[in-house]
Amino acid sequence: MWTDTHLHLDPEDNHAKIFQDARANKVTQFLVLGTSLDDCQRIIDLADPKHGVYVAAGLHPHVASTFTDLEPFKAWHKNPACKAVGEIGLDYHYDFSPRDQQRKVFELFLDFAVQIKKPPVIHCRNAFDDCYDIVKSTLPHGYPFLIHSFADDKPEARKWLDMGATLSFNGIVTFNKAQNVRNGLAITPLDRLLIETDAPYLAPIPYRGKRNQPAYIPYIAQRIADEKFTTIEDLARITTENANRFFAFKPQK
Ligand SMILES: [Zn+2]
Repeated sequence: MWTDTHLHLDPEDNHAKIFQDARANKVTQFLVLGTSLDDCQRIIDLADPKHGVYVAAGLHPHVASTFTDLEPFKAWHKNPACKAVGEIGLDYHYDFSPRDQQRKVFELFLDFAVQIKKPPVIHCRNAFDDCYDIVKSTLPHGYPFLIHSFADDKPEARKWLDMGATLSFNGIVTFNKAQNVRNGLAITPLDRLLIETDAPYLAPIPYRGKRNQPAYIPYIAQRIADEKFTTIEDLARITTENANRFFAFKPQK
């Protein structure tokens, strides 16, 4: 059984079919990330922990400039199915929000995560130095955090891991040109590793360029198992245990 620790659902998606196809491929737990006020409002209503559907609420760096206050986030985080503060972070690739605003909002949400004792899910694109400095200066020593869609190289993975990070990997590990990411994967201990699709983006080979979905987790997992010299069964068990521990999921027996 697999856990997709990072996916997005658009209003026009056929949610029932997406979850059904995923379950047919043994993907049975999901963390759906909210990225904006509208998105969070909508996905909170999709939470269905009895069937393995958990949610997270945060403000994506792309829309950091829309930030006004934390009140709506405080309300959403009262929902026990809301398991993490995310998606938050820095994105200097697109720069859709001014960088100073991105940094300010990122810091504020990290503080909020600590306040409510939930792990932050961090998006860090072309912004390693600032991301690293902010996490280091904001989170208490040893506080759990997740670098989602890890996409740098071994030195960055080393620095994150030394700070106590969990790293999550997606379809990028299957791309020919992503040796840097596989270098990072190689040094990530199995107990600090999570698997995600980041659907609808970043579909793994052989679906690269198509719309991604959680049913594709096994393609990502197979490549990770090969790179980590482990079996698919062990990887499924370990990464699902990791997800349950990291996000405090309570699977139904
Ligand atoms: Zn995301």
